[in-house]
Order: sequence, then structure tokens, then C-alpha cells
Amino acid sequence: MLAYSYIEKGKFQLIEKPIPELQGPRDAIVRVTLSSICTSDLHIKHGNVPKAVPGITVGHEMVGIVEKAGPEVRNVEAGDRVTVNVETFCGECFFCRHGFVNNCTDPNGGWALGCRIDGGQAEYVRVPYADQGLNRIPENVSNEQALFTGDILSTGFWAARISEINAEDTVLILGGGPTGICTLLCCRLKQPRKIILCEKSPERIEFVRKCHPDVLTCEPEHCRAFVHEHSEHGGADIVIEAAGSEESFRLAWECARPNAVVTVAALYDQPQTLPLPDMYGKNLTFKTGGVDGCDCEEILRLISAGKIDTTPLITHRFPLERIEEAYRLFESKANGVMKIAIEP
Ligand SMILES: [Zn+2]
Ligand SMILES: [Zn+2]
Repeated sequence: MLAYSYIEKGKFQLIEKPIPELQGPRDAIVRVTLSSICTSDLHIKHGNVPKAVPGITVGHEMVGIVEKAGPEVRNVEAGDRVTVNVETFCGECFFCRHGFVNNCTDPNGGWALGCRIDGGQAEYVRVPYADQGLNRIPENVSNEQALFTGDILSTGFWAARISEINAEDTVLILGGGPTGICTLLCCRLKQPRKIILCEKSPERIEFVRKCHPDVLTCEPEHCRAFVHEHSEHGGADIVIEAAGSEESFRLAWECARPNAVVTVAALYDQPQTLPLPDMYGKNLTFKTGGVDGCDCEEILRLISAGKIDTTPLITHRFPLERIEEAYRLFESKANGVMKIAIEP
């Protein structure tokens, strides 16, 4: 089969690999019907993910059909149409039992697919702990509608969930890329008083204005003043940072009102500075980290009910044979690209 693989720093290549086999009784083999490219794939390409193993097939955002399931898999069977979770988790350890699946203590716990073990920018993928890693797609939900469930939509859902949003809040989201938009969709479900989205790309601001006319938008250079003007207590009640730059990290705490919750969902290329003397007395609560992706069933239910729709994010489609070209486009951010669906 064809598999897009991490060869070395700076180099991915489409190569021929054997179709994966079951390795344990809780594994499943999934025939990939649609996958996507994520910014984290670029972090691997650029050598910024030290855990990434050269040689692995990349890709951790996909949907497919179960081809084979191990004898101990209970929740899915061959023929089921499923979403694949970016995270591998056992469902039994201390962290899994508390819903902190990103820190599952299994050797492959956390983000393994397309990083430490073969992922899904390929024709087939092996999913360990298939009962946790796969969710059946409801009949009225298409593959494109379900595509982001296991990764960026899980991230947006998690960020909105842990941010303690309530009805009186002004929520500031930093970043209008795919993860920022997924965060926006999930924040809306909490029905806060106001949502402000800050983004520097005029094309992406246009995208938000078109799809979400009730959301206020601003550019980073005006963000502080804008948030001040549109909030009641000197800043946003909740800030979710989904942009991942030095500027957005600084804006995250600067634009928060005293006692706000600041959720940092972004992944940075560089360490960031937390200038505690400058924020002394602001009494902020920071929540940071990688998604605990254990809400896929709930997310699929919301998609099925028409409450979440990420299909406008799919701006381009490519066959797997042309994935090289798709990566170039995704990385260049040209032609209004948000997300690319890859069809094996
Ligand atoms: Zn990702
Ligand atoms: Zn676990």
C-alpha cells in the first residue's frame, strides 16, 4: 500500500509499505477512506517533535472502515464506518480512568499514531486499543463531516470544556486557523454572551465573518484595545490560545481580565516566557497542554444533530498520490486553504 512517511528532518515521502497486520487482541485494522493534514504533521517534518520516529507513516486525522478487529475488541467490528482518535489510550490506567487520556501510561499512550507508530496518510492503519481509539460514525454523518472528530475537533471541544465558559462570559479565541475555528464551534455550544476571534490573516478573518457573522473579529495589533472595548471587566473572561506564536501567547494573558481562565491549546516551536511580575495580582488560572481526546462519541452525536459542522473547513481535496502537492499548498497557506481532505 501507499504510505506517506517521515524519512528524516525536512523530508516526507510517499513509499510502498505492507498492509499492517493485527499485533494484539485489542487492535483493529482500518481501511482509510479519508485523511487530513494537520499542523502537527508539519511540526514533525520540521524536526520539532523529538518523539517522532523516522520511518513511520504520518497522519493522525482520519476516518475509515474497520477491516479486521482483534478478538478482544468489543465496540466495533469489521465493516463499521469509524472515526480514528489521534490519541492511543488503554482506558484502564489512573489517567484514563480520570479522563486524562493524553497521559495514558501505556508505552504507546498519548499521541502515538503518525508520530511514534504508523499513522493514517496511507491506505490502511493499525489502531491499538480499538475500543478506545475508534468510534462508530452515525448513519446520517458523512465521512467529510466526521473527518476532524478525532483530532482538531476533539481539541476544540476539550479546550471549550476545560475553560469553564458560562452565559455571561466574553470569550477571546486567539487564532482563526482550523483549530481556532473548531474551538469557536465548540465554544458556541456553551452560548457565552460574546465571542471575539483574533487572527492576522485577512482571508481567515473573512472566513469567520462569512460563516459566523455574530462573532466579533480583530487583528493582533488591535486585540488588546478591541477586547477592552468589548468586555465589561477590563478584559476577556475566558481566553483560549489556539495560534501558537510568541505574540499570541503574550496576548493571551494580556487580554484576560483579572481572575480569568486562560487555556493554552496551541503547540509552540519555541519556549514562551511567563512574566509573573507583570501579571502579579491579576490572579489568572492557566490551563495548558494537549487534548484529552475522549469525547468523540459526544462530538459525533452533536454532528449528527446538526450542532457542529466542520465541513466548511475542507477547502481542498487531493488523492493520496498527490499528497506531496497537498502538503505544499497546506504549508504555503495559499488559495484560502484551511484543511485538505486526502483520499487514498
Ligand atoms: Zn493534529
Ligand atoms: Zn491509560
